[in-house]
Amino acid sequence: MKRRRRPTKLTYGILIGLIFLLVGFIIKSPNDDTSEVNLKKNGSLIEHTRYEGIDLISDIKEEDKYYFVIHYPKFESKKLSNEIEEYATSVKKKFLKTVKENEEYIKNHKSSLFLTTELYTSFGDGIYSIVFSEGSYVAGANGEQRGKVYLVDVNKEKFIQQSEIIKDTEENRRKLYDILKGEFMNSPEYKPLFFDDFLKEWVSDEKNKFSNMYVTDKSLVFMFNKYEVTAGAAGMPKISIPFDKARNLLTDEWKEKLTDKFTKNDEDTNNYSDKPNKNESEPKHNSSIGKKVALTFDDGPHPENTIKIIDLLDKYEAKATFFMLGNRVNFYPKIAAKVAEHGHELGNHTWNHKDLTKLSKDEGLKEYERTRQSIEEATGKSPTVVRPPYGAINEEVQNALSKPSILWTIDTLDWKSQDPDEITRIVKENVQDGSIILMHDIQSSTVQAIEPILQFLKEEGYEFVTVSELNTEY
Ligand code: ZN
Repeated sequence: MKRRRRPTKLTYGILIGLIFLLVGFIIKSPNDDTSEVNLKKNGSLIEHTRYEGIDLISDIKEEDKYYFVIHYPKFESKKLSNEIEEYATSVKKKFLKTVKENEEYIKNHKSSLFLTTELYTSFGDGIYSIVFSEGSYVAGANGEQRGKVYLVDVNKEKFIQQSEIIKDTEENRRKLYDILKGEFMNSPEYKPLFFDDFLKEWVSDEKNKFSNMYVTDKSLVFMFNKYEVTAGAAGMPKISIPFDKARNLLTDEWKEKLTDKFTKNDEDTNNYSDKPNKNESEPKHNSSIGKKVALTFDDGPHPENTIKIIDLLDKYEAKATFFMLGNRVNFYPKIAAKVAEHGHELGNHTWNHKDLTKLSKDEGLKEYERTRQSIEEATGKSPTVVRPPYGAINEEVQNALSKPSILWTIDTLDWKSQDPDEITRIVKENVQDGSIILMHDIQSSTVQAIEPILQFLKEEGYEFVTVSELNTEY
């Protein structure tokens, strides 16, 4: 499998990332006001998600010295939304302040902030855990990582305190310490990095109201900040306690709520039957004179644009490769599933588009691993290729991966021009047998360019293949 050299400058790549959720709003105003009206002008985008009544807000910006990518949910209830938005805004403001204070030290590497949201529904009765992960790097200092958890009851329009779930007694704190310690010691990953004294301190601190705990459909999860109870290399450890094990920690109200979760009944949902894939049984096209081209789409899935692209590809019987972001697959699993069902190749583009060259080997691998899991859960299939954000390969990470990193030979710069004619022109002028074309399925201008591109390439005698099919020809 060929590895390709980085064809564009990193700075261009960074811009791609920044624009990866925008449908065309370039930031003009330096205003920090994040009221809904301003958000739109200010490089933010609101999208519907698979969760009823919950939208996802993306706030993205790049300047000379820094860039940030912020995601947070928006609820129908103003009361809930305001508090969440206030938090996201405060994270952003703090970052911008730090950047300002360190401005003179920021030279080669831009400062960056990523605020990622994950949503867990626990019981289908309007109770959600919102889990924020914040990672920032300023002026070459050690990156900071911390988390923040909100538990919301959408139906009652209120936040739930963790102390409503865990009965806060001295005995329970001791129990919790034992359980958490046991989990840390049982984890080959965390055991060598775990500081027992720090956990003791954490659990006996009266100010600690377990605000780092959230609830999934299977367990209580405790998410610790970097350095809180482990060495930095552990990042932000998450310790899951299955409901059965946590039973005695719960308040009566929550014991009742979770009654039907206690009888341990492990439905194995991982047992995906392979969907029959028509193409696999067909003889491979093996003409040696046929020209081939691989269309690739990054940074999705997107609830509308990805679907439109799939439909157009179907129309031209074209197969393509979609390099997806894990945190977006998490929000749009059905879209990811549709990509797979239509026979396209699944690519791993990391969890939330961090520059892997700024991460340690383990952190980088985690970015890919979480995404692999998310894609597998959504589609029942494993991604077969990876593509590092910005084309920036971390050699250590790459050497530890079993999958090839696929970059591109033609960069349509679709994120930059937002112009279907310009995108089409770049393809027409540069395409040759074996080209790998980079586009982004999150942009509506790219959607408009797809049909002219397919039309042209078809007339020129090209066959549309996935990157793996292309590379096996070499
Ligand atoms: Zn990308």
